[in-house]
Amino acid sequence: MNSLSLFKRASRCFDDYPSLAKLVVICTISGGCYVAYADANGTGSAPPVLEEIKKKKVVVLGTGWAGTSFLKKLNNPSYDVQVISPRNYFAFTPLLPSVTCGTVEARSIVEPIRSIVRKKSIDIRYWEAECFKIEAENKKVHCRPNSESSKNGKEEFVVDYDYLIIAMGARPNTFNTPGVVENCNFLKEVEDAQQIRQSVINSFEKASLPTFSDEERKRILHFVVVGGGPTGVEFAAELHDFVNEDLVKLYPAAKDFVKITLLEASDHILNMFDKRITGFAEEKFQRDGIDVKLGSMVVKVSDKEISTKVRGNDGEITTIPYGMVVWSTGNGTHPVIKDFMQQIGQSNRRALATDEWLRVEGCSTIYALGDCATVNQRKVMGFLLQNSTWSSSMDLVISDYGKRGERFVSVTGHGEGYTESN
Ligand SMILES: Cc1cc2nc3c(=O)[nH]c(=O)nc-3n(C[C@H](O)[C@H](O)[C@H](O)COP(=O)(O)OP(=O)(O)OC[C@H]3O[C@@H](n4cnc5c(N)ncnc54)[C@H](O)[C@@H]3O)c2cc1C
Repeated sequence: MNSLSLFKRASRCFDDYPSLAKLVVICTISGGCYVAYADANGTGSAPPVLEEIKKKKVVVLGTGWAGTSFLKKLNNPSYDVQVISPRNYFAFTPLLPSVTCGTVEARSIVEPIRSIVRKKSIDIRYWEAECFKIEAENKKVHCRPNSESSKNGKEEFVVDYDYLIIAMGARPNTFNTPGVVENCNFLKEVEDAQQIRQSVINSFEKASLPTFSDEERKRILHFVVVGGGPTGVEFAAELHDFVNEDLVKLYPAAKDFVKITLLEASDHILNMFDKRITGFAEEKFQRDGIDVKLGSMVVKVSDKEISTKVRGNDGEITTIPYGMVVWSTGNGTHPVIKDFMQQIGQSNRRALATDEWLRVEGCSTIYALGDCATVNQRKVMGFLLQNSTWSSSMDLVISDYGKRGERFVSVTGHGEGYTESN
């Protein structure tokens, strides 16, 4: 009876106010539309589909060993990956010295980055450009295209990231020695190796011209390698073989004028390796006629002479006439990394300090790997001392009951070293 009277009262109300009926119709239709719209856009209670989850942006700087290894391992499709590098290929650096002498062709040691990322099951975009600034605070990297790839000059662009992977490698370290950049060859990139090969051939052609004196021919065919590390030593050895096995046959008159000198500032070449390797290399070079000058620090390079300060010679400077120099004295910091290190308060270092997870110290979303970074290892001895006991023979003893079973580590000689047995 009550509900009937409510119905009657409502219909009388619509009869008295016809516009009210229109309002109800409009509300009903628009409400239905809203429900349909909400359903279509997933703003209702239904769970969002995978594509709608915003992918985290991962930006990788560099396509060398570090950058490429990272990309090869990356298989998670939930990241939006962009790679930025001025070099659109990966180069197998251990074979670069062989490219300088033509033993290996340059094309055999490179792999296009686009063919590497094409093999991946995830989307990776590549930009042929160099990053010239990392803006950590706003999570942006500023880039400019390679001059060759940019038709309208060098338009700069900015890329945002959620995670940044810095794998930009290092620059040759010149120690700010005057004249090095202007007069020396480096051996870091494929182009460097090709350039060296061309210079070696040019030197032989030049020395064969009738216009030069024998003294000049000696200078032109004097090849100097600065730096007795692995790259310098390998290059000197390759050059020796190239000259003695190939070039002397093509330029027989040049044979008596060729000389290879290796300058090393410390007491030995390959001094990061075992003494036996160092000794073997030095003896082999001596037998081969490669002149190894130890304790010789280069202080200046002009277009025809290289000046060295020889240790134990009262700081006396010696000048050596040369035809071609290859400078190979290790890694220096990339200017972009230097600038970034200043931003994050690491300016007193040569490379970016990271934790064991390769995360740049003080930056939770930036990682650094390869030659531009250094891993700060936990202090192993400190850990051992904290977790050990002294045995009756005054040896430090630590027991670690790990997953692989009991490991026993004995630190002998009051912390001078430790042995481990499983
Ligand atoms: C001749 C030679 C022989 C070697 N032999 C050996 C060996 O036998 N064994 C060994 O372990 N190591 C060897 N090394 C060392 C090894 O090559 C390096 O340790 C390794 O290349 C470091 O890798 P990386 O990715 O950090 O740097 P790199 O391989 O140098 O790559 C750096 C990348 O960053 C890119 N890049 C540069 N600037 C920018 C920028 N502004 N923005 C974006 N990208 C940029 C470069 O184009 C490049 O793609 C050799 C090195 C040389 C030169």
